[in-house]
Amino acid sequence: PFSYVPPGRNHLFVPGPVNIHERVLRAMHVPGQNHRDPWFAQFFKDCLEDTKLIYGTKTATPFIFSGTGTGGWEAALTNTLSPGDKVLCFRYGLFSHLWIDMMQRLGLDVQVVDRPWGEGADEGILEDILRKDTERKIKAVCVVHNETTTGVTSDIGGCRKAMDAAGHPALLLVDGVSSIGALDFRMDEWRVDVAVTGSQKALSLPTGLAFVAASPKALEAMKSAKLKRVYYDFADQLRTNPSGNVPYTPSLAMLYGMRESIKMLREEGMENVAARHHRLGEGARRAVEGWGLKLLCKNPRWRSDSLTVVEVPEGIDSNKIVKMAYAKYDLSLGIGLAQINGKVRHRLPHRPPGQHERADAGERTGGGGDGHDRCGAAHPSRQRRGQGHRVLAEDGRRHQD
Ligand code: PLP
Repeated sequence: PFSYVPPGRNHLFVPGPVNIHERVLRAMHVPGQNHRDPWFAQFFKDCLEDTKLIYGTKTATPFIFSGTGTGGWEAALTNTLSPGDKVLCFRYGLFSHLWIDMMQRLGLDVQVVDRPWGEGADEGILEDILRKDTERKIKAVCVVHNETTTGVTSDIGGCRKAMDAAGHPALLLVDGVSSIGALDFRMDEWRVDVAVTGSQKALSLPTGLAFVAASPKALEAMKSAKLKRVYYDFADQLRTNPSGNVPYTPSLAMLYGMRESIKMLREEGMENVAARHHRLGEGARRAVEGWGLKLLCKNPRWRSDSLTVVEVPEGIDSNKIVKMAYAKYDLSLGIGLAQINGKVRHRLPHRPPGQHERADAGERTGGGGDGHDRCGAAHPSRQRRGQGHRVLAEDGRRHQD
């Protein structure tokens, strides 16, 4: 009979939620505490200050919400935009698609730029569209930095250059859910206006916190932004956070874990963190090549160092591999999401040595399925145009859990 908790140690290798470091687990092992007691104010100020490290910012204002990356998306949009505002967004995977879906549901006028799944945000196209927007109707450019569905990293610095070349004043909103804390991210240098991430990815925490940082320009935009916002309203945080207060009950254990996780990143140094991901990512890519398999992402310029998406050979259903790995080896791998369902599996190579119970952790095959039952949503059906990627040939398949 099926058991929710199979015997033995489960080997979790999906690109979020990821394994939680022992130090972080221990840091979260705290008794209940009252966040209205005097100790909390300095603690929370330190928490906010800590997060600046992962964004690469000194000038942005950080926020910490209980929630997930999706809540962070909502915060980014609702705090800076008004109903009917035009926004520009590239779509090249499930997460960019879902963000666009949220924009549309919020009543924004989204100009969608579809790119093949396996490519990223094309700076030339971006510049061209922005140049043609002579009336400056586009209020925000939204880019998913690291598309988890496909293992593609877009060049946010390059997008900023394209925006500058077009002399366009739009805000730059970036989903860094599977990049921030793992890949090179320079919020100040790239002049990102809102950056978003979630706790269960590179911070190696449990799911449950959404991290958002807003530039001075984004906070200025907030003053005239009319989209409805309640829980994720920056204004409520801005009224309380500077004095170390919070508008609602914080997830204390998670905050303790977060501080430990960021402490570890600081100890390692963010440049070394990015270099580690590159080294392990490159190792994963070479292993894939050595096995005679192919990456979903064909052009090296787009390849993600935080996760790697591997095509399975023709005629093999990756869902079966995933099921077998779980049943036989207690190994949690992922499935391809949406239009790449059944076609790929993911490797997550980004953990530091010694972080996990087995030294070979970095080399194991990880999964792309995040278990979210969101793949049945109507997703884009325009990726077929002659890309020639076999994995792109099937649209609209719902993943089976
Ligand atoms: N954006 C990206 C790139 C993601 O990988 C994910 C989740 O995997 C999300 C957004 C959504 O985050 P969450 O599931 O934490 O709401």
